[in-house]
Amino acid sequence: MTVRTRFAPSPTGYLHVGGARTALFSWAFARHFGGTFVLRIEDTDLERSTPEAVQAILDGMNWLGLHHDEGPYYQMKRMERYSEVLADMLAKGTAYHCYSSPEEVEAMRERQRAAGEKPRYDGTWRPEAGKALPAIPADRKPVIRFKNPLDGEVSWLDVVKGQITIGNRELDDLVIARPDGTPTYNFCVAVDDWDMQITHVIRGDDHVNNTPRQINILNALGATLPHYGHLPMILGPDGQKLSKRDGAASVMDYPLQGYLPETMLNYLARLGWSHGDDEIFSMEQMCSWFDLSHLSASAAQFNPEKLAWINNHYIKAADNVRLAGLIKQQMLDDGAQFDNAPALEAVIALLKERTNTTVELGQAAMLFYRQPAADPALMTQHVTEAILPALRQYAELCKTVEWNKAALSAAMKQTLADFSLKMPQLAMPLRLLLTGQLQTPSIDAVIELFGREVVTQRLSVIAG
Ligand code: GLU
Repeated sequence: MTVRTRFAPSPTGYLHVGGARTALFSWAFARHFGGTFVLRIEDTDLERSTPEAVQAILDGMNWLGLHHDEGPYYQMKRMERYSEVLADMLAKGTAYHCYSSPEEVEAMRERQRAAGEKPRYDGTWRPEAGKALPAIPADRKPVIRFKNPLDGEVSWLDVVKGQITIGNRELDDLVIARPDGTPTYNFCVAVDDWDMQITHVIRGDDHVNNTPRQINILNALGATLPHYGHLPMILGPDGQKLSKRDGAASVMDYPLQGYLPETMLNYLARLGWSHGDDEIFSMEQMCSWFDLSHLSASAAQFNPEKLAWINNHYIKAADNVRLAGLIKQQMLDDGAQFDNAPALEAVIALLKERTNTTVELGQAAMLFYRQPAADPALMTQHVTEAILPALRQYAELCKTVEWNKAALSAAMKQTLADFSLKMPQLAMPLRLLLTGQLQTPSIDAVIELFGREVVTQRLSVIAG
């Protein structure tokens, strides 16, 4: 069997975190078996589907690197095929025309509710051997209903939830085409999964109720059934359904907030799937490990702190040239001056250890790309008369010292010894003079990165 999975979003909004996880699991499963990952756009809800949403989904998939092998197929482009299958089903008697008006259907439901029964279509137009059907009302266009089995049950071994069994009596004769002939949701999904030879349907458990209906339709079509796996929902940090309130429900908000795609993939992978205690792994590893037997049946909880921790890991591992490309525009927007300043890659190398997002990294890097503007009160407090002679000596040494970490550090130690000072007594005023702030990485590293020209120029203000 060649594994074929699909991701089948409805383009009614952006690609959200839950959708991205579904896509990731379907993709990884196909990759694990050298199978095919199909992208299908379920755009039959004309009121809610938009081309912008299609684009947003494609952008999200692309950013994550979840590339499809086939598609995207668009349901709206498959209308002829659905009509053909509907005609076949009518001919075979697995579907039938129903002329009950919406008012009649509503009245029958009311009656059933009043009698304490579950509301369902009462089968008025359902053909049965030896049964006479009512006269077709004039000027009424019929819907097409699926002739759901009356007895027995639908049962499948859900790869996440285990055996699920639904009695056919619970299911209705589903409308599969509207009076204007347009097919309905569950029918299209069943035909698509059949035509696209999907072997494994992995999707959110909000679709569990659709599965028995789709299975019955697939059986009526004579299709081989796919395996189904329904992923439990992702809860927000507060234990409630993950929502926009939780910061970024759209996957494409994450690059804006400074998260790397490999972080998202790694993090999403752990939302409902595990490989021992492994927290950090590459997509190559995930694809080689991914199986359906380690999917969790209980809801996963979104944890922003863990996401930040993973992002820090991938920022540390990321190439500095790539990181520079990601933060440069943000820094320009913040007024960064890149002329006569240290190479951004070198600054990133110094700072990335401690940053959780590339946005933070860009903000921290500004230290090297703006004119220092220290608070005068801090200057008075730290650049004191008592310390000026030492600062001046160090400034002089900086004019001639060999420009490397060892020599710079030796010059600093020399000055501290000559004036019997402790490191912070010299480092704090130097930080203020060079960067305008008291919090910086190691002063030696900062000085080395700025270079002789900038350092001497910024220290010239204290010349005696
Ligand atoms: N189009 C459905 C959705 O976006 C998914 C359908 C499916 O995976 O079967 O929720």
